Amino acid sequence: MKLLDGKKCAESLITDISRRVAAYVGSGLRKPHMTVILVGEHAPSESYVKSKITSCARAGFESALLRFPESITESELLAKIAEINADPATDGLIVQLPVPKHINPQNIINAIDPDKDIDGFHPTNFGRMTLGQKAFRPATAYGICKLLQFYEIPVKGKHCVVIGRSNIVGKPISIMLSNDFEIGNATVTLAHIETPRELLLDETRRADIIVVAVGIPGFITEDMVKDGVVMIDVGINRLDNGKLVGDVDFENVSKKCSWITPVPGGVGRMTVAALMVNTLMAYQNNFDLL
Ligand code: NAP
Repeated sequence: MKLLDGKKCAESLITDISRRVAAYVGSGLRKPHMTVILVGEHAPSESYVKSKITSCARAGFESALLRFPESITESELLAKIAEINADPATDGLIVQLPVPKHINPQNIINAIDPDKDIDGFHPTNFGRMTLGQKAFRPATAYGICKLLQFYEIPVKGKHCVVIGRSNIVGKPISIMLSNDFEIGNATVTLAHIETPRELLLDETRRADIIVVAVGIPGFITEDMVKDGVVMIDVGINRLDNGKLVGDVDFENVSKKCSWITPVPGGVGRMTVAALMVNTLMAYQNNFDLL
């Protein structure tokens, strides 16, 4: 078993980005700029935002964190987004999810200028990604592709099983792995909560690559996989004892894997790195550098 080290891969991507940024700045351009909006107080969001801001600094980007109280109304938030959409000094805009219950997250996603939508959640980007066109790709799914590329894991012609169909992870990674784009050309099965157990087992037991994103600790057990499987564990679950674990029973399943992502230090790191890749692309688009 070998580890798909998200930390190492993310560092390599961010170092490469920082070199490119240094060259752009050296030629007289301003630095790329990411704006993050955080509404209310939510401990995991605080930690995700902190890691995005830190990574911006390491990539050579400028960033701004705009905090708003839980009481902000949807229309006030939409007005703020419109203001940032119109600001040429911001290349990429993220509204950290979840937003408070009185705000409809889809209205927020739809309001972000698709050219600044570095999370890749806007229907325009999601549609373009699905069609195999140039787009900002949802960061966790794109990060998984980058990780597979970094370790030169063969994907073409492989049988992949994705478990979980969320719009931010399961659905986009199933599309990316099956598309003919950068990495892909796999045959993909997408399983979800209505997939009968026997069917799920049939699929996972013959899968070459499994991507699991269900948010259930220990969901993937040793008996569910074949020897040599490549296991991508997206889950981030905090146990009662404070330990952070994924969706895979790592101790037992890892013995059968050819490659596996650790939690933490796997996909989570890649999510932030892919956001940096998307921000650089937004900046390059703005300055016609591509
Ligand atoms: P989500 O929106 O809750 O989606 C979970 C998906 O799993 C749903 O599609 C659900 O099916 C499916 N599911 C739930 N129970 C299942 C079961 N017993 N069998 C088969 N499918 C089942 O979650 P998410 O946002 O995709 O996140 C999933 C996990 O990844 C969470 O632990 C989250 O914290 C983590 N995550 C990590 C990163 C990272 O950077 N590493 C990024 C995002 C999320 P239905 O659609 O039918 O409900």
